[in-house]
Amino acid sequence: MRRPIVAGNWKMHKTAAEAVELVEGIKSLVAGLDVEIVVCPPFTCLETVCAALADSAIGLGAQNMHWERQGAFTGEISSDMLLAAGCSYVLLGHSERRQFCGEDDSLVNRKLACALQAGLCPIVCVGETLQEREAGRIEEVVLGQVGGAIAGIEAGAASAVVWAYEPVWAIGTGVTATAAQAEEVHAMMRHFLAGHLGKAADEVRIQYGGSVKPENAAELFAQANIDGGLIGGAALDAGQFAAIVKAAL
Ligand code: PEP
Repeated sequence: MRRPIVAGNWKMHKTAAEAVELVEGIKSLVAGLDVEIVVCPPFTCLETVCAALADSAIGLGAQNMHWERQGAFTGEISSDMLLAAGCSYVLLGHSERRQFCGEDDSLVNRKLACALQAGLCPIVCVGETLQEREAGRIEEVVLGQVGGAIAGIEAGAASAVVWAYEPVWAIGTGVTATAAQAEEVHAMMRHFLAGHLGKAADEVRIQYGGSVKPENAAELFAQANIDGGLIGGAALDAGQFAAIVKAAL
């Protein structure tokens, strides 16, 4: 039985004061729900949001981290810094980082190894572009990203990864994958993971992400291999985010 997990990716939104206002709203709406809930504010809000979450079961995540524990990497943030700021989760390989910051599978792999070693729960994002989908390359691209992320990582450790299938064409566009389209890829990912992890793949959580809204969340989350969602735009509104969390119950 996999516990659903719903995470909010706030991207480059919210000052610390705005973040507290949002998280206070979310807290009051989701208290007591049996769903693993995570918020991922910008780095500058982490400690403030951590303090605001002290009386709540909501987990704190970052949107990125460096692959080294420390060193001369100007402008970067390490896993130890995230842990000290109160994070338990970290998003890795988000398509916006792949697209705008040149992150590739080998970089995601190094970050993933570092996050697992540090004891953070990684949420690794994978997904194809519209061009790749239309060229019939979904399996090759998505499974290539999954395999690339866990390359060389021992199965026991890799079993702790949470995955987010996020078709790039559905992120921030208002276009959602249909429940059937999403389920097909999730099932493919679980089958692929079983080849690496064996039975443990049955316990691995795979979120769907890409224009999830209160109106479409229930149908997506009802699919056999969809274990919650990674939410962008709708995570910036406490009411919408809470409604999506409730859809995962
Ligand atoms: C995301 O950024 O991970 C995402 C899914 O965004 P949105 O929900 O806005 O499509």
